[in-house]
Amino acid sequence: MATVKDFSVEEKLTAVLALQKIDSKIDEIRTMKGELPMEVKDLEDEIEGLQTRIGNIDTEINTINAFIEQKTAGKKEAQALIKKYEKQQDNVKNNREFEAINKEMEMQELEVRLNDKHIKDASFEQKDRMNARLKTEEKIAEIEESLAIKRKELEKISAETEIEEKALGAKSDEARSKVDARLLVAYERIRKSYRNGLAVVPIHRDSCGGCFNVIPPQRQSEIRQHKKIIVCEHCCRILVDSDMNDKVNAK
Ligand SMILES: [Zn+2]
Repeated sequence: MATVKDFSVEEKLTAVLALQKIDSKIDEIRTMKGELPMEVKDLEDEIEGLQTRIGNIDTEINTINAFIEQKTAGKKEAQALIKKYEKQQDNVKNNREFEAINKEMEMQELEVRLNDKHIKDASFEQKDRMNARLKTEEKIAEIEESLAIKRKELEKISAETEIEEKALGAKSDEARSKVDARLLVAYERIRKSYRNGLAVVPIHRDSCGGCFNVIPPQRQSEIRQHKKIIVCEHCCRILVDSDMNDKVNAK
């Protein structure tokens, strides 16, 4: 049985590349899921904001309703007074008394008109607020629809990926145990320093598959020879030739 020291550069590279491919698959799943919970949260926040808006509109509507009630009561009061004065006018003793009552009646008629104007204006505002409420409710229903879709999607992915993620995790552990200890340290360090988690990359179109900088032909040929581990001069990622990259799969 070979010890770690006996591994050839080619074997070391193959092992670390295999690990990279498995870890990239795990990353892929996490990325896919990673955006959905955030999208769900955004939609939930949006709905909460709109519900607060509805609450504010309701407060406004209540204020308007109380105002209309108050003005309606004022109008009724004035109308009752007018009726009372009309009766009093039937029983007046002289012209002076008649005129005095007439003045009071005119005052109350003015009061009725003023209340009418207030009620009309408030009713207009009330309709406007009701409209705004309706539109907000429609918007909430719309968002709730997309929220339900996103939630379902997330649940589905979580259910589907749970088994796959576990299997890949076990594979990753196994592949990790086959990687040269020093190379593994380098792998982990490079992987952590890049958001896409790529530490081992193939040469693609004469360039580094990680940072896309051109790799000189001499260096490319060295990489193909598998005599030593070569890292990209620009991004420090471990480089492998495309043949090796094609042969190693995340199985
Ligand atoms: Zn590079």
